[in-house]
Amino acid sequence: MKIENEPDTSLRRRRQALCRQLPPLKAVLRGSLIERYKRCGKPGCKCAEGPGHGPKYYLSVSRSGLRPQMDYVPQESHTQVAEFIANYHRAREILEAISEINRELLRRREAL
Ligand SMILES: [Zn+2]
Repeated sequence: MKIENEPDTSLRRRRQALCRQLPPLKAVLRGSLIERYKRCGKPGCKCAEGPGHGPKYYLSVSRSGLRPQMDYVPQESHTQVAEFIANYHRAREILEAISEINRELLRRREAL
């Protein structure tokens, strides 16, 4: 259903449901996980023929006008970092959806 055709009560109910689906906001991280393999350069190391040692993980965070920043992610934090990144995307989607509902209510001159 298009949002314009959705009754007020339904919009409000959906907004409430969206709020409940928000991930814990302290558990968000913006950026992306990057995998790197490195050749150590030691003579005779088998990594010279393969992709290199790894994977090692980095968090890459881009900011407008600046080069992306890379932070090393220890192996034991990898899963949690991936989860926090997913939370960030989920939170953004939900905030966007709530914002759309509020914009529609505003357009109808309904109480927010
Ligand atoms: Zn090596």
